[in-house]
Amino acid sequence: MAKIFCIANQKGGVGKTTTTVNLAAGLAKVGQRVLMVDLDPQGNATMGSGVDKRQMALSVYDVLLESASVAEAAVYSEKCGYHVLGANRELAGAEVELVEVERREKRLKTALADVLDSYDFVLIDCPPSLSMLTLNGLCAAHGVIVPMQCEYFALEGLTDLVNTIKQVHANLNKDLAIIGLLRVMFDPRITLQQQVSDQLKAHFGDKVFDTVIPRNVRLAEAPSYGLPGVVFDPAARGSQAFVAFAKEMVDRIDKL
Ligand code: ADP
Ligand code: MG
Repeated sequence: MAKIFCIANQKGGVGKTTTTVNLAAGLAKVGQRVLMVDLDPQGNATMGSGVDKRQMALSVYDVLLESASVAEAAVYSEKCGYHVLGANRELAGAEVELVEVERREKRLKTALADVLDSYDFVLIDCPPSLSMLTLNGLCAAHGVIVPMQCEYFALEGLTDLVNTIKQVHANLNKDLAIIGLLRVMFDPRITLQQQVSDQLKAHFGDKVFDTVIPRNVRLAEAPSYGLPGVVFDPAARGSQAFVAFAKEMVDRIDKL
């Protein structure tokens, strides 16, 4: 049975998509069966997995509107080694179209139930907002992975996310928990980042993943080749960190 994780943070540009595609590729590399779900209408995780968002016959939009199953809409990315349930601009319309329907926040959960035996991990890349799309992700998930930069306002921003997750936990999804905080784009030479990292550990203890993802230009270059860094340049420091993170996730879920 697959474990389902949302990669979420209401801030944009914090590394959600980079984390999603590289964790997916890292997990595939260590032999896990992975489905990556793109819930962001920008479709960056789709493109970054080697799937052209403009050429997709079916996408997560069709799944949310129940006109296609996950098995029908997901495609296998040969280069990346995982399945992709992609997104494109069409998905922005789902927000409005879902307003009228019943169980609108449970659409993704219901759809994923059919494919749980086919995967070990389902990773959901969330948009940078608390929209109906993110809510669908949070309702479907067993846990949330929160990528964050160790900056001055990082802890403040976390409070909103933690409160949201508590509310979803209380009202919609009893399974939901924060699995962990992932320090990304980390530069140990910057004293402030080291300090915020220490604060995070003091405050959240073992909810902070051991693995730290360094700032690494190869991770930023990879999307323009339609690949996760882990596939584009496996030897890069950032890629190696994501493979280490994949192994840490496998260990953690064994203990969940
Ligand atoms: P989000 O999905 O939260 O908006 P992205 O994953 O798209 O964030 O990352 C924002 C930008 O930062 C992108 O240009 C990405 O390539 C870059 N980036 C993310 N992680 C790293 C990293 N570890 N090192 C260098 N650049 C990174
Ligand atoms: Mg993104």
